[in-house]
Amino acid sequence: MRFIFIVLAFLTFNACKSTKAESAFAFAENPVIAHRGAWKALNLPQNSIASLKHAIELGCTGSEFDVRMTSDNVLVVNHDPDYNGLFIEETTYSELSKHKLSNGEVLPTLRDYLLAGMENNPGTGLVCEIKPSKTEGRNVLMAEKVLELVDELKAEKYISYYISFSYELLKRIIEINPNAKTQYLDGSKSPETLRDDGVSGLDYAIHIFKRKPEWIESAKAHNLKLNAWTVNKAEDLDLLLANGFDYITTDEPELLFERIRNSATYNTDYELVWSDEFNYNGKPDATKWTYSYGFIANEEKQYYTDSLKNARVENGHLIIEAHKEKLANKDFNNPNLKPWAQYKKEIDSAQYSSARLTTEGLAEWKYGRIEVSAKLPKGRGMWPAIWMLSEDRKELGWPESGEIDIMEHVGYDNDTIHGTIHTKAYNHLKGTQKGKTIFIDRPNDTFHVFAIEWTPEKIDFLLDGVVYNHIANEHKTTAEWPFDKKFHLILNVAVGGMWGGRQGIDESIFPQRMTVDYVRVFQQKSKDQ
Ligand code: MG
Repeated sequence: MRFIFIVLAFLTFNACKSTKAESAFAFAENPVIAHRGAWKALNLPQNSIASLKHAIELGCTGSEFDVRMTSDNVLVVNHDPDYNGLFIEETTYSELSKHKLSNGEVLPTLRDYLLAGMENNPGTGLVCEIKPSKTEGRNVLMAEKVLELVDELKAEKYISYYISFSYELLKRIIEINPNAKTQYLDGSKSPETLRDDGVSGLDYAIHIFKRKPEWIESAKAHNLKLNAWTVNKAEDLDLLLANGFDYITTDEPELLFERIRNSATYNTDYELVWSDEFNYNGKPDATKWTYSYGFIANEEKQYYTDSLKNARVENGHLIIEAHKEKLANKDFNNPNLKPWAQYKKEIDSAQYSSARLTTEGLAEWKYGRIEVSAKLPKGRGMWPAIWMLSEDRKELGWPESGEIDIMEHVGYDNDTIHGTIHTKAYNHLKGTQKGKTIFIDRPNDTFHVFAIEWTPEKIDFLLDGVVYNHIANEHKTTAEWPFDKKFHLILNVAVGGMWGGRQGIDESIFPQRMTVDYVRVFQQKSKDQ
């Protein structure tokens, strides 16, 4: 009896142990897909088992590799159609395997590769790209043989998804195994088509998403996984993180992990609710931006226009450009101007033109995280700003209505930016505005991200992710905190004026521009919307 108990206990223990080992694998919770393994930093050969092992060490959620088939129908892992000058499809595996990879590895078969990926792997999925063949019937055969092998090795749970440029091949995979996850690579099919055909995601070149940003939304609406290749630049990684991509395929997994750590939005409840990435040409998008005209305030010398010369989108950027040019003042001698605006009627023409864009009447937000990536104009007399005014400013008047200056910069003090709030209690007329400054390195030729994080409790001002001014809601009155209502965004480049012109205007600097790479507005799903 006692013996039986011991045997039972032993069996139970082992059953538990094996169940535990089996269930230990779960895809790591990050979007990092190492493209052909993690090879670059350690100078490993692409598609080597060593690069797969390194992706596992880094904790990537996936490691991608390319599958081809030899003339004797052995599945091997290699990107190019040829290997050491031999065409893989026309050469036997034994011929191919005479040549080693640069790190001494034998050309991996898919069998060896999958087995390596199933060993000591807590969370890196295997992303299996099957390279199309030009030979009739071979695509379907490869799909069948890959699935057979995955089945034989019980590797299915390690496979994140299958990808291919061949739609025929993906469809054959889905036919054989309707549970298999698939993503199409070619970039030619809409999310609707993929959904209708049972493909579970789209893994398109990043330029496709830049050209068709509407596919991002429609992929999400159709519950398709979003993935992009091959994304190696920090700014592109940031763009995809901001847009909530499920996966990002990169040669730079270490850099992507760093961008994720620095992304204030990735690990929070924030989601992108409004943006302009400026991936078009010509006039700023009229559904997002309107213009201010003429002289506006602060005794500034520029005359605002809506001409392309002063505001246009080109090369992926919004340009707001100040020119030295004479323009007739439509308000000259206008008797209807308010007393504070008398200066607007005093001169018959302006000496400078520029632009001021606003989202007023088109998009306004209460709370959120607002990020603007921009390069600033240079020279004495320039005064660019990225700032916000409230929806009720016309009824309430300024400064009671409130103002949030996400970024101000005056040309005579080029190394400094300012982040400030103005309210009834705290404003520059009284010298009580709450502002702080921070040193900025190379503001004119490098993109920096100017941001606020605004909640019912605070407004933090950030430069490149670092908070340099923290305004707490003191919970007194709206004189101190008028920020529980909607504000719109303004981007402008002023010339001269009460602050920008304090040390005069250098006439030799024109034209001068602010270049904006993107504007992104995030809100917290549960709270702000
Ligand atoms: Mg590939």
